[in-house]
Amino acid sequence: ERIFFQPGPTTLPKEVLSRAKAEWDDFEETGLNIMEHSHRGKSYETVHDQAKERLKRLMDIPETHDVLFLQGGASLQFAMVPMNLLESGKKAKYALTGSWSEKAYKEASKIGQCEIAISGKDTQYRTMPSMDYQASDEDAYLHITSNNTIYGTQWPDLNIFSHPNLVADMSSDILSRAINVSDYALIYAGAQKNLGPSGVTAVIIRKDLLHENEKLPNILSYHIHAKNNSLYNTPPVYSIYLLNLVLQWVEEQGGVAEMEERSTKKAKTIYDVIDASSGFYKGYASLESRSLMNITFTLENSELEQQFINECEISGIFGLKGHRSVGGFRASIYNSVPLESCEKLAKFMVQFQEKYGK
Ligand code: PLP
Repeated sequence: ERIFFQPGPTTLPKEVLSRAKAEWDDFEETGLNIMEHSHRGKSYETVHDQAKERLKRLMDIPETHDVLFLQGGASLQFAMVPMNLLESGKKAKYALTGSWSEKAYKEASKIGQCEIAISGKDTQYRTMPSMDYQASDEDAYLHITSNNTIYGTQWPDLNIFSHPNLVADMSSDILSRAINVSDYALIYAGAQKNLGPSGVTAVIIRKDLLHENEKLPNILSYHIHAKNNSLYNTPPVYSIYLLNLVLQWVEEQGGVAEMEERSTKKAKTIYDVIDASSGFYKGYASLESRSLMNITFTLENSELEQQFINECEISGIFGLKGHRSVGGFRASIYNSVPLESCEKLAKFMVQFQEKYGK
């Protein structure tokens, strides 16, 4: 049996795929697949609203905030956030902790005035920088990336940020740990890691930020999407349908608290092997910044790394190749990856070292 550790898109829970398969050509005895339904019809409307309500329940989203389902990936949010929230005369501040936050910063710089608040670049993004930043009146918002998918680092404690307008890209760790939504002006996440398939992006936005802006094209305006319950134009119906099934699965498993417990256990299984390997496996992230979602490590040399990949494939282990900017390997262990897969990988790693370690 094959097991997968892809960085995104990742696997969906088996139960979700089975359910989608069972409903494939006859959604609730309508004779149609859900994606063949009108997005203005009753069948789809129920799915759409269920997905929204489920995300609200799972994340304990207060009445002060609204949930939007948009297209264009997290990358469109790199642009939409400043387009909607960066008023002239203000500055957007960015915490640089990896490639994705750099991209967010660069996109925003095309739109208005931006500044780097803190940066971990001098450690090649191995370590999260210290949070020595004070909010200022000139700030439109402070943008952070909660988990750095490529480097395998994560802010261990999000409570260190207290900014009146905190914006967070949570694409790669949403629903993996409890957070206090009231602390945020806006949260966004491309779905293809912990929420479902690609094609839909969840945006959680504080309602006071939903003001009209005549100059913005409608499709780029949070106000327009919120006013139309994310049905301003045809939504990605099938992606939202699968997202709803994934959220249902998370609820059935025990919610975010359960995902958090599992994530901690899953990550420990693999980090323990790295730590006990006497340097055979070299973790990329510094200990205090390690991600519970993406585990990055390298081996002594490229021949050994090639051997590792080859033997992984023979053993049915896939998706471990690291991002080109870090090299080596990355085991992405999002919510849908079971503990047993992590245990299998850990066992494989131990055996590989026994075979090739000095
Ligand atoms: N932000 C983070 C933290 C990511 O991990 C990714 C994708 O991997 C993105 C943004 C970009 O997402 P998208 O491909 O949905 O635009």
